[in-house]
Amino acid sequence: MKNIKAPPDSWNCKVLLSRIPKNGEPLDETFELELCAPIEHWGQEYAPNGPVAASARFSFANERILASVSVRASFCLPCSRCLRETHVDAAGELKYLFSLRPLKDARDEDEGSEDEEIDVIQVDSFQAELDITQCVWEVLLLCLPERALCSAGCKGLCPICGRDKNEGDCGCRDDNMDPRLAVLRDLDV
Ligand SMILES: [Zn+2]
Ligand SMILES: [Zn+2]
Repeated sequence: MKNIKAPPDSWNCKVLLSRIPKNGEPLDETFELELCAPIEHWGQEYAPNGPVAASARFSFANERILASVSVRASFCLPCSRCLRETHVDAAGELKYLFSLRPLKDARDEDEGSEDEEIDVIQVDSFQAELDITQCVWEVLLLCLPERALCSAGCKGLCPICGRDKNEGDCGCRDDNMDPRLAVLRDLDV
């Protein structure tokens, strides 16, 4: 199965604009998104443990649309020390502002939200539907942990013999031993 590097064609995260209240009240939508192959990211494979749960809250604000996009998913990937298959949870949220006006103007007018990270997406016109599929994909990639650890105290693999040191001491000495001493040690065996 080929790894996924872009949102699958089956993903369809759209909302009808007519459903978002004009008075600024939010509209909540949820999307259950299937992943039929591992995601390739950070140079490794994230094997899905089920569908990706995405939710979005849409609201009109000064003729622009604010979308808060949340993503939750669970994956398996190798422990970065011992390579054992490890479960990781990924969860994150980003805010997007869909605006007809240039990016700079839209950003400047956002009062009281200076602390908040909002991605401004300029659109030529508002269609009947707003598609946030790419946003969902972006949030998912951003919240994928770069490394997994099977446990905080994972001892990893022995750099000399490759044995999993969590399963016991292999007896190798991985310090930079003086080669002359190493000869003596080998004689001792
Ligand atoms: Zn480990
Ligand atoms: Zn060893």
